Amino acid sequence: MLDAMRAVASLAAVVLTVGCGGTGTQSSLTAPSAAGGSPPVPIPNGDLSGRIDNLATVADLITYNQAESVGLSVPVEGPIQRATGIITRWELPIPVYVDPSIKGNCAQEALSYWQSVTGLPFTFVGADAEPRITVRAAGSDELNIAAGLGLVYRTYTNNRARLGVVKILTSAATCTSTSALFRHELGHAIGIFGHPPGGLMSSPIVGTMASQREIDILVQLYRLPHGTRIEPDGTWRVVQ
Ligand SMILES: [Zn+2]
Repeated sequence: MLDAMRAVASLAAVVLTVGCGGTGTQSSLTAPSAAGGSPPVPIPNGDLSGRIDNLATVADLITYNQAESVGLSVPVEGPIQRATGIITRWELPIPVYVDPSIKGNCAQEALSYWQSVTGLPFTFVGADAEPRITVRAAGSDELNIAAGLGLVYRTYTNNRARLGVVKILTSAATCTSTSALFRHELGHAIGIFGHPPGGLMSSPIVGTMASQREIDILVQLYRLPHGTRIEPDGTWRVVQ
């Protein structure tokens, strides 16, 4: 997902922010805190089929992960090869490479934040490791008017995430405090491929904290095995 730096009402902005709905009018977010330590790591229980009780989360998983198309290709990384109709998530711990073009600790802070609210663990890997998410700076030649981008662009045959990228506009890539931008783009790269309104993943970005809705999406996503297809009634099964 490309994210516009500001809501410029130009044609270019409209084109580049297709799919970035929401006006971001919410001013105060009720965000869960991580008081009392990280929640448990969400993992599958070994079943190959099942049912998700929370139908709101089911709808969100289908809309913002299983069915979401993040585009055809991106500069540098090339074609986006990810099947829809099946969930995409990382095997844990989520492997991340933070490129030296990122100055400061905002990437690490964003990883720690997501872990603190979802329980998802991360591990640092090398520049050429596979699978991995690369977090790096990028110029406007890659991002145009966007401030950032985060997505999964390669998957294994069962749609398990293989390569992902978080690009932060170079002018924002030196960062030493809580960064909604880093958190938001990382949220895309770990499984929320669209912009559910009202939280950290909305577009334009509002606030710095994930909503319970966003947390529920990620926690439920990582409880499902790779290759899972979710039906709107909440039933799911491994199909690939
Ligand atoms: Zn976005």
